[in-house]
Amino acid sequence: TTHDDVDADETLQARPPVVTIMGHVDHGKTSLLDALRGTDVATGEAGGITQHIGAYQVTLKSGDKITFLDTPGHEAFSEMRARGANVTDIVVIVVAGDDGLRPQTIEAINHTKAAGVPMIIAINKMDKPGSNPQRVREALLQYDVQVESMGGEVQEVEVSALKRTGLEELIDKIQLQAEILELRANPERAAEGTVIEAKLDKGRGPVATILVRRGTLRVGDVFVVGMESGKVRAMVDDRGQQVKEALPSMPVEVLGLTGVPHAGDQLSVVENEARAREVAEYRQSVATAKRTTSAPA
Ligand code: GDP
Repeated sequence: TTHDDVDADETLQARPPVVTIMGHVDHGKTSLLDALRGTDVATGEAGGITQHIGAYQVTLKSGDKITFLDTPGHEAFSEMRARGANVTDIVVIVVAGDDGLRPQTIEAINHTKAAGVPMIIAINKMDKPGSNPQRVREALLQYDVQVESMGGEVQEVEVSALKRTGLEELIDKIQLQAEILELRANPERAAEGTVIEAKLDKGRGPVATILVRRGTLRVGDVFVVGMESGKVRAMVDDRGQQVKEALPSMPVEVLGLTGVPHAGDQLSVVENEARAREVAEYRQSVATAKRTTSAPA
């Protein structure tokens, strides 16, 4: 497939899909993200401790993994896309069955179509007596979204994030879609990734959640990210555990940056610190030149 093809075919291995959940406010994005997180073998059994780093990965009973971005704002999605960072492989659009299509549902559909990313429709709140999934399916036709039961090709599933029903079916559909997309990356090369979120942490300094796109990111790796650079001092996963390496599609919080990068910035591992500083300084000078030339005389 498209963006995975920078490496030679024989180096590519299957990677987990990266999924974003979008939908109208109060239709259940957060609840669904929580419910899906509970399907993780470790989290589910032990009621494991989770950490908000902007994305998390679940490991299914089969051993397969799925990454969910848990910054469900449309803004984050649009901003990342504007920066050329199309990190999402699949969008799940949540529609409350009792409320139907609302402005942000339509916006989510439009964003997803514009990004050329396949969508899965999750009709939520099926436990509510007022839920009317058929009305949702019919309304979707007006926006050129034809779900399977209406003779179309867009996958659909009825769920209740509250009662935790339909989740396995949703996961099956995500995996089916992932298979169709043939998502692959070369885990052996120098790592590249995308900033999901970043902040200045009081105790730890600048930290950024990186979603690894290709290669394996390791402690000690030297990198450039946007106009910043650094050397991976430590990495923390979505359970707050320190990890030594991160494979494609895995989100990790990275410590050891010179400053705070922007969501959507690309991280690239480079040979050495001199090279990292050189690239970062060049990028800073370009940005300064742009600001100077675009300033009014
Ligand atoms: P978000 O704004 O899209 O993130 O929506 P939330 O996940 O915060 O949910 C909004 C409200 O709907 C909360 O009060 C949830 O408890 C409730 N809710 C979410 N999913 C369900 C569901 O499947 N059934 C019912 N009955 N309520 C739900």
